[in-house]
Amino acid sequence: MANQKQESMSFREGVERMVDRATLAAGLDTNTARVIKASSAVLQIRFPVKVHSGVEVFTGWWSVHSTHRLPAKGGLRFAPHVNQDETEALSALMSYKCALADIPFGGAKGGLMINPSHYNEDELRDITRHFAQELARRGFLDPATNVPAPDMGTSAREMSWIADTYKSLYPEDINQDACVTGKPVNRGGIPGRTEATGKGVQYALQEFFRHPDEVAKTGLSDGLTDKRVVIQGLGNVGYHAAKFLSEEDNVKIVAVIERDGVVYNEEGLNIHDVRQCMVEQGGLRDFTGGQFSENHHEALEMECDILIPAALESQIHADNAMRIQAKLIVEAANGPVTYEADEILRRRGIVMLPDVWVNAGGVTVSYFEWSRNLSHMRFGRLQRRFDELRGANYLRALEDVSGQEVPAKIRSQIVHGASELDLVRSGLDDTMRSAFSDIRDTIKHNPEIHDYRTAAFVIAIRKLAQSYYDLGLAEVRE
Ligand code: GLU
Repeated sequence: MANQKQESMSFREGVERMVDRATLAAGLDTNTARVIKASSAVLQIRFPVKVHSGVEVFTGWWSVHSTHRLPAKGGLRFAPHVNQDETEALSALMSYKCALADIPFGGAKGGLMINPSHYNEDELRDITRHFAQELARRGFLDPATNVPAPDMGTSAREMSWIADTYKSLYPEDINQDACVTGKPVNRGGIPGRTEATGKGVQYALQEFFRHPDEVAKTGLSDGLTDKRVVIQGLGNVGYHAAKFLSEEDNVKIVAVIERDGVVYNEEGLNIHDVRQCMVEQGGLRDFTGGQFSENHHEALEMECDILIPAALESQIHADNAMRIQAKLIVEAANGPVTYEADEILRRRGIVMLPDVWVNAGGVTVSYFEWSRNLSHMRFGRLQRRFDELRGANYLRALEDVSGQEVPAKIRSQIVHGASELDLVRSGLDDTMRSAFSDIRDTIKHNPEIHDYRTAAFVIAIRKLAQSYYDLGLAEVRE
């Protein structure tokens, strides 16, 4: 999906411009913005590992953007295009995302410049362990200060290798499980983390469509049912978002854009089958449930109701922004719309739901996992059966008083004690809804702010500014 265009500014500069714009709109002190924008540390590591072809030297980064809350939190990306500018930009987005979603973490991000498909599992394990060791030795992997999570090119598997490495280095650390999130459930992970970002995208869209006044800004009709959706990227985030939206909200995924091309089906694609084809065939070319075309760049510009970029950053840029025909852009990826494209799209009246809100689901559930690791107890362990008992007693009383039997479906709903997954989903849904409610309030109370991105940044910057102000590092002028 090498659709990135040479912009007049880098990804990091683009994010900084978004902060400047929000600072201006909120009437915040520009010096405060300067303090907020500065990354506090970037570590570059080069380390050798013996692989099949001999000894190779790998380069990786860990960027810490803010430490006003600890740990600093963010994904660890394994991809060939990774570089320092990208890692810094993504760590900044993590700070704003956590602040907006009310997650008490600083922002960080890691990246390893590698094409994972060139290595077998044993080699990847070795490489990941070396990287984790280098990070831990320098104090950049620790439950209290720096906690990575899955991102592009990494998953629960890499997280369990990282946790293992940390445990072998610090066996006496009672909170060792919390050194990384997104672990497999049987190794200290939490149910619902794998699909959390995609689920969060669904909750964000559901929440948006609960407000007809907001939907009216897009020119779309009310309700998610039958909305025609184009999605770019069927990785972990894109796949889960597309799956939940098509199976539970009846949207029609009319196109899926991937590296080797795009598949279309006006009747709606079966997402499970598309994913199956990608896993088995390594691409979409041989997909039989829709029409295939190699032209993935233009597919972004096709007419549709909702466009969900769920792949890389900078996919919608100054060159294609004029041709985008979607009415609503839902940013499941980090930074898929460049600063310049954002300006163009806003002028054109195309509504964007910004990444710092839409894809906050991953780090939200990471927060739950981290807290669970520190408490050493699964959520709901104390109250689940108590709640069930209370529900059963309530039902019995109701039936006694009314003389009628409650239907089986309602009975099981009332008696059901929440599982850990129920609690995770409820916490995630609440986080997504609260963040949007804050965004709406900000727009309502600041007539000069019209778009969701600026509002989201204003909220985040205000919270960050307040913490820096509390530390005496900045002035807050409201
Ligand atoms: N990689 C995810 C993101 O970009 C999750 C980060 C985390 O869970 O710490 O938001």
